[in-house]
Amino acid sequence: MAIVSDAVCTFCGCTCDDIELHTEGDRIVKAKRACRLGTTWFTSHGAGAGQPAALVDGREATLDEAVERAVDILAAADYPLLYGLSNTTCETQRLTVLLAERLRGAIDSHSSL
Ligand code: SF4
Repeated sequence: MAIVSDAVCTFCGCTCDDIELHTEGDRIVKAKRACRLGTTWFTSHGAGAGQPAALVDGREATLDEAVERAVDILAAADYPLLYGLSNTTCETQRLTVLLAERLRGAIDSHSSL
């Protein structure tokens, strides 16, 4: 078992930064000081093993192929909605806001649910 101190939870946007993670192998088994949402998020995270880097139209694709497809979709959109951002860093959110402005689209987070 390994312990990681001061981990940051990026699930809801509060970015609690005092989480103590306990791991067994490649799995997080305990998230001390995380709330119920954060605990579920941390402990149900897969390590990505066995998963493709991306899917395009339901088929396995490389990350570059997925980015190219996303560019095509966004470039063709009239008023794209950039949605989600609950599992992303501040830097990613900042870039997403810039992208939404450039595309003349809209942005929303999962909290609107
Ligand atoms: S989900 Fe919970 S632990 Fe994670 S950032 Fe939000 S309040 Fe903090």
